[in-house]
Amino acid sequence: MIKNSRRLLRHLALDFLSLKGEISTGVHLLNGHYIGINNLPDSIFANLLSQIKKKAQLINFDEATNMIANGKIPEKERLVAFTFDDGFEECFLKIRPVLNAEGIKAGFFVNTGFIDGNKDYKKKFLQTKVRLSTTKEPMTWEQIITLRAEGHIIGAHTIDHDRLVGKDFDKLYHQIVGCKKRIEEKLETSCEYFAYPYGQLADIESMGRKIASQHFLYNFTQTNSKDYYSFKDYPFINRRHFEGNWKFNHVKYFLKRNLLQ
Ligand SMILES: [Zn+2]
Repeated sequence: MIKNSRRLLRHLALDFLSLKGEISTGVHLLNGHYIGINNLPDSIFANLLSQIKKKAQLINFDEATNMIANGKIPEKERLVAFTFDDGFEECFLKIRPVLNAEGIKAGFFVNTGFIDGNKDYKKKFLQTKVRLSTTKEPMTWEQIITLRAEGHIIGAHTIDHDRLVGKDFDKLYHQIVGCKKRIEEKLETSCEYFAYPYGQLADIESMGRKIASQHFLYNFTQTNSKDYYSFKDYPFINRRHFEGNWKFNHVKYFLKRNLLQ
């Protein structure tokens, strides 16, 4: 009940806050997980993209990453790229067809334990790691290989969707590098993108950041920071949260803040 009231208040606040203003110039990385918690049609996500397209240009995730990493942010253009975490099956069955129809490539950050897990593992993963009350299946390796062959980016999101805190090197290394190695083994190509689970600044500590920085070219958060990067010791590129069934105005609210202060 409290959760629902909070959600409603947030909804109303976003309705109000998103009335004015346009998408700000620069590169925006959006990160979602699915079209909705429940089983929703892909037309909802297609509609959202068509609305964003009226105000901004949709670009490939790797191009957006390169612009940020090389400090070549366009001054006048409004560019939006997409990533999706956790590797749910609907990424392939519903999100992929919409992206492919638009001709844009996204990034998909997967948990190899979820893909490889048995029925009990998957149930526990949904309940305790990504905290979903509905059933969602992971993508299969065949589907992930197809995404990669089509030009989408496959990134690592740890084996078991663990928070990367503390100083247990072996555990952190296993989660971060073990995931990378498993993806590389299945895709037969190097995996250079990493997004840590939960994505808030407190969900990864210095040792986790160090290991990720040593093994991946590009590392990502999911925070609402106004800057392109978080963390001074080992910089991570920021992504903004959205989901495929969000109202355009709510997504716009997160795209209209000036990213470079
Ligand atoms: Zn996740």
